[in-house]
Formats: sequence, C-alpha cells, structure tokens
Amino acid sequence: MRIETLAARAGHGPDADTGAVTPAIHLSTTFEREPDGSYRGGFVYSRYANPNRSALEQTIASLEGGAFAASFASGSSATMTLIQALGPKSHVVAPDDAYFGTTKLMRDIFGPWGIELSVVDMTDLAAVEKAMRPTTRLVWMETPSNPLLRITDIAAVAAVAKRHGALSAVDNTWGTPVLQRPLELGADVVMHSTTKYLGGHSDVLGGALVCKDDNALAQQIRSLQSTGGAVPSPFECWLTLRGIRTLPWRIRAQSANAAKLAAYLVSHRTVEAVHYPGLPQHPAHAVARKQMADFGGMLSVQVGKTADEARAIASSLRLFTQATSLGGTESLIEHRASVEGPTTRSPQNLLRVSLGLENIDDLLEDWERVLR
Ligand code: PLP
Repeated sequence: MRIETLAARAGHGPDADTGAVTPAIHLSTTFEREPDGSYRGGFVYSRYANPNRSALEQTIASLEGGAFAASFASGSSATMTLIQALGPKSHVVAPDDAYFGTTKLMRDIFGPWGIELSVVDMTDLAAVEKAMRPTTRLVWMETPSNPLLRITDIAAVAAVAKRHGALSAVDNTWGTPVLQRPLELGADVVMHSTTKYLGGHSDVLGGALVCKDDNALAQQIRSLQSTGGAVPSPFECWLTLRGIRTLPWRIRAQSANAAKLAAYLVSHRTVEAVHYPGLPQHPAHAVARKQMADFGGMLSVQVGKTADEARAIASSLRLFTQATSLGGTESLIEHRASVEGPTTRSPQNLLRVSLGLENIDDLLEDWERVLR
C-alpha cells in the first residue's frame, strides 16, 4: 500500500466489541490472566506492552518498511536505548552537525560508560572511512541535519558501515518516511523523535526505533524498552497515532512552504546564507534529489551580523513563534546558538525555521515586512 493509505489506516480498525472507528485508549496498567495462565490479548503489564503502544509501533514499522519498531517516551530515550543495545566499549561514528542533545548523549552521558565517539563530517565519505575502527559498532547519520541541513548520502555511508561489520542508523526525524526511507537505502535502524512531524501538533513527546529485521538487536531493544520502561503512555501513543494519520499531507505542504520561503530568502540582499537542500546551490542538492521525495519543512537562515541582530529579526516576525522544537502546524523560529550553549557550532546569526501549515503568502508578507 502507498504511504497515505498506510498512514491513514495502519494500526487500527473498527473495535470488535463496540464498532468504534477510532481506537479506545487503554489506560489499564494490567491485564487479566486466564485460568490456564495465558493472556487473552497477549498483554500482561503496560510497561511490557499496551494495545495503544503496539498499534503505534506497528504503524511506524509499516511506514518505514521495517520488521520491528519500539516506541519510547522521547526521541532522546530512543537514541539512548540504541546506544545501550550496542554494549560497553563500543565505538560510534557520528556526524559533526546533528541535534546537539544526541551528541551530548553519546559523548557526555555514555563516554564515562566506555562508549567511544568519533565525530566526523558525514558528507565526506573518506572521513567516515578513516574513522572506522575494528571496535566500531555503529555509524549514526542525521539527514537533513539539525541545524545546518547537511545531507548525508545514506546508501553510501550505510555501505561503508556494512563493509566494516558495523550497524548504520539514521535519525529520520526531519526526513520522515514520506520523504526518505533509510531502510530501503541500506540502513539497519531508523530513529524518530515522534515529537516532531509524526505527532505533528506540538502536543506530545515521543520517540521510536525501527529495525529492518526482527533480529537479535531488535530483541535487545525490546528488552531494554520493557525492562527500563522509558515508554510513552497510552494517551501519548494515541495522540501520536492520530498525528500520523495526516503526516503525508502535512509534510508535503510544509515542504512546499519551506521551498518558497527559501527561494525568497536566498534572493534577499540582507541574507548571508540559506541552508535548504531544495535549493540548487545547496552543496548536496544532487544527493538530496536522489534520496528524498521532497526537501522537507525545515530551513535555516543566516541573517544580521550578530546574535542580537538575528534575534531582533526573529522577535519582529508575527507568524513565526520564537520557540524550540519543530514539525507542528504552526511556524516556529529559533536562535540555535543560544539554545545550544557555549559549545555550539551553530553560527551566531543562524535562525532555524520550522514551516507550519499557514498560507505561504501570509508567511512571506511577514518576512517582507521585517527584512524590507
Ligand atoms: N533528533 C532530532 C533531529 C531532533 O531535532 C530532536 C529534537 O529536537 C531530537 C532528535 C530529540 O527528540 P526529543 O526531544 O523527542 O527527545
């Protein structure tokens, strides 16, 4: 089935008892045991599995074309679980432009537990190759990357990982399975912050790991999920699944808005740089064209000479709320360097923009009024 049909229909059908078309929210933490000791629906205790969580996991697995999915209380807890699944003393290769929380997790939280990290420019295949060691267990990709919208060639990097006997994983939060399907390009694992486009309404945190095969790694992830318990509540699963129903239509409209705003900004005399993979002048535009169906709803722009000037522009916009996060129906703007703190690699005049579902003419008029 096509992605719109999967998004609209996967993981639920009319309730057998009541005929309800939308799924019930199963708040029960525990499930009745039959006289023979078995469990009617296979559910025992909600930390292990819950009907709403199972429905969400089935849906995310089918969208990504994976055999297995596990959902988590946040994207970060999904990432944390994958690193835990690698085992101690593993070496991880990760990109130098990625969500700063991911790098912090791998370096500052897991470093003292023996995880070794090499941070490389993932757009440079020779650099990835050079970073590989006999102990490398994972090559982590994030594409498009946060906040510079760098594009990694998923198939090429996954092939390097495979050749060295390592796993490859892609943070597909910004791409979404509508725009790119990393498992089909050779990656072993996909990670999502479902807080963003999958949930899609800025009202629920969540994360997911999807594996191509239901193998030993998948079972280790399941064990960490059910034993550690960093799981989303039934209501959070229900909300995320409701968001997914409209994902293909939202992300396409957001991509169209981002493309038009990028084209406007790149031609404005006061703008220093626009980072958007849909622009022909983006350094990896050809790679993006090859692996993405569209270029996504995120862009970043360098404008003004200083952090203060960039922030003044962000504050003057009326339809772009100054707030962190992304992927919701409302447009957001954020001065990344001040959020990331003193170790940031983000340029001081960089504003990250998440396009919402407003009419693009209203959004463009807002920028025209501010930039003049
Ligand atoms: N990955 C990317 C690309 C992100 O943008 C974010 C959050 O901004 C995360 C992971 C972390 O997700 P969460 O906030 O759900 O833990």
